[in-house]
Amino acid sequence: MKYHIITYGCQMNCSDSERIATVFEKVGYKKALKIDRAGLIIVNMCSVRQSAVDRIYGLIPKFNKLKTTNYKLQTILTGCILKKDRKKLAQHFDYILDIKDLSKANLEIEPRYSCFPLAYIPISTGCNYFCSYCVIPYTRGSEVCRAAEDILIEAKNLIDKGYKEIWLLGQNVNSYRNKNINFPKLLKMLNNIPGNFWIRFTSPQPRDFSNELIEIMTECEKISPYLNLPVQSGDNEILKKMNRNYKIEEYRELVKKIRKKIPDITLSTDVIVGFPGETKTQFKNTVNLLKEIKYDMAYISQYSVRPGTAAAKMEDNVPKPEKKERERILTEILKQTALDKNKTFIGVIVEVLPLKWNDDFIIAKSFHYKTVKFKSPKDIIGKFVKIKVINALSWGLQGQSLKKVPISNLI
Ligand code: SF4
Repeated sequence: MKYHIITYGCQMNCSDSERIATVFEKVGYKKALKIDRAGLIIVNMCSVRQSAVDRIYGLIPKFNKLKTTNYKLQTILTGCILKKDRKKLAQHFDYILDIKDLSKANLEIEPRYSCFPLAYIPISTGCNYFCSYCVIPYTRGSEVCRAAEDILIEAKNLIDKGYKEIWLLGQNVNSYRNKNINFPKLLKMLNNIPGNFWIRFTSPQPRDFSNELIEIMTECEKISPYLNLPVQSGDNEILKKMNRNYKIEEYRELVKKIRKKIPDITLSTDVIVGFPGETKTQFKNTVNLLKEIKYDMAYISQYSVRPGTAAAKMEDNVPKPEKKERERILTEILKQTALDKNKTFIGVIVEVLPLKWNDDFIIAKSFHYKTVKFKSPKDIIGKFVKIKVINALSWGLQGQSLKKVPISNLI
């Protein structure tokens, strides 16, 4: 019997899918590369935006067609499923697996890693905060943290197998605590594992970002100088309505502290435009924040109602074209700030980790989490190499491979 998994959404869903694959392979299933070769299709869905949910409804005609030629085909739906969609979607899938139970059990499963030389390690799942727009506390439940020993064993095994980039995942990754080990301590323990590898993590919550964490990031040479620090809005009233539990002044202060200790940090953020009641003046505060902070990257989304959340009770009164326009305005600012940041790398020799090969070009990530494209044969995938940055674009860098570079030239 062959299975095929379709995954939507964040890195946590990708990690869940890797662990689901292990379970099916342990009971004898083999992976089908093409959907029409599978006897079992598992869909791992995301409900963060309505457009993500619409994709699942879009798959149903395809599955029905496949069932006309393969009447034994079974379909399973899992992932972040809202109550409202669950009932409707249950009519079109053979089984629904609850991610709340699955993700807790999943933390204990050794996954079938699918992104060599990069590996995701979930360190926690669920969330105890109730940001008013967010479905996670409803779909994944309250926060559960894995034992630090298990995380360390998983990381050591990965490094022994040649993995070079370890991503620690959690919905609110920096609130991790297991017994007396908090997130900074866990990072330090991982950093002490011998070997040549990088550590990244996502996504931290600004309200839990401690001085201890900044210190550890500064001290530990394997921790990437990259942070996605979600701000969501630059306006205090909107932040309050979002239940984010910080003021924009505190966020600014945090960025200042981080940049003081790690001046070359790559900083990205998440922003929601058109939140219920967001006025033009309130949006202007977000515009000003983006201009001031000068992010390297931002994931900007138009607000969409998520049934069952607190924000769903608020009037979704920013018209769609206005949301689109606000997204465009922020994207224009971002294009410029990202380009300015990327230009600072021109002429610099950086170490990169090649991840993919596409039409003679390698797509790699630098320690600073910059996407770098350069011409090279395929066989360097998974090996750290030094390249010279020769050009900068808003969304990445172009490089040239080098042969011998003195170590002192590396940044
Ligand atoms: S902290 Fe993150 S996961 Fe938790 S409710 Fe807020 S947005 Fe959702």
